[in-house]
Amino acid sequence: MTVSIEPPLAMLAEITHRCPLRCPYCSNPLELSKRSHELSTKVWLNILDEASELGILQVHFSGGEPTVRDDLTVLIKHAEKKGLYSNLITSGVLIDKSKLDSFIDSGLQHIQLSIQGADSEVGDYIGGFPGGHQKKLEVAQLIHDVDLPLTLNAVVHRHNIGQIKKIINLAEKLHAQRLEVANVQYYGWGFFNRKNLLPTREQLMEATEEVNKARDRLKGKLVIDYVVPDYYARRPKACMGGWGRRFLNINPAGYVLPCHAAETIPGLRFERVTDKSLSEIWYHGSAFEAFRGTDWMPAPCSTCDRKEIDWGGCRCQAAAITGRPDATDPACELSPDHGSMNSIAQNESKPSQEQFQYRRM
Ligand code: SF4
Ligand code: SF4
Repeated sequence: MTVSIEPPLAMLAEITHRCPLRCPYCSNPLELSKRSHELSTKVWLNILDEASELGILQVHFSGGEPTVRDDLTVLIKHAEKKGLYSNLITSGVLIDKSKLDSFIDSGLQHIQLSIQGADSEVGDYIGGFPGGHQKKLEVAQLIHDVDLPLTLNAVVHRHNIGQIKKIINLAEKLHAQRLEVANVQYYGWGFFNRKNLLPTREQLMEATEEVNKARDRLKGKLVIDYVVPDYYARRPKACMGGWGRRFLNINPAGYVLPCHAAETIPGLRFERVTDKSLSEIWYHGSAFEAFRGTDWMPAPCSTCDRKEIDWGGCRCQAAAITGRPDATDPACELSPDHGSMNSIAQNESKPSQEQFQYRRM
């Protein structure tokens, strides 16, 4: 079936991999981009021009920690000039009042602030950054004071999923409009540390119950996004809304990726914004064409009535678990590899004495 290719809805602009935190589940690749390989301000301004021409509506400034770059205000201002909705995805630890004011004056419309736990003891331990949790609380207050919409993002795993009730209470206290309870995605550093991060089925069931109770209690006040982690799921998520359908990602060195973890898939060739136009890469780039639509799908996806709902799930996960990026996502119960996913969950979620490895350059 030939699919009509729409313009992307959103662009994730990973302007740097530098970050003062060291989360062991960071979705950045194991081999992080050095500062000397980062794109210049001028190139990013061109990218924003091209993104707007391509029909992109939203730009998410991300990293690493995007506020380490001192040209972020310039980039936000340019996004605003080009009519792009801008969101900042940040750990918050480098933001003070004057920085926040300069982002808002430049046109920033939304902030997504990460927390690593419900309190300093857990948050600072997971983030590997002493004092970070307290700093985040202060930044959340500053964001509330200027009335900017706030989403709190809590990545959960074995070491903090037991804090879910406290995390929800914290989101309420910090006046967030939305809380994303995101189970670790096991790519990059998360995959590397999987056996020290996977929660047990019991932990997951307790957390799901807490989320459901809070959703009822907080209806109309706080939206809670929560998806069962793939290792315990029965059907996969529609990763990226389908490969090459809604989103593109530009990494710090300028390579354009169909998703932020796409570099973990062997055999794909990525193109750079400095060599080709964004439009050419989106519509004709070989990495985008590799899994776009449904023609590439093997059985059972090829004949499944959900193939245009979840698009066969996640390619990075299929590659990581089966070694075949074009396999049905093993998170799906119908996949012949679903059993391996269950065994991994069972074997690796056991408490271990081993320490996780913090992210490092
Ligand atoms: S996940 Fe943690 S280490 Fe990775 S970029 Fe975000 S705050 Fe930094
Ligand atoms: S078989 Fe494929 S399309 Fe069907 S539910 Fe599973 S992953 Fe989705």
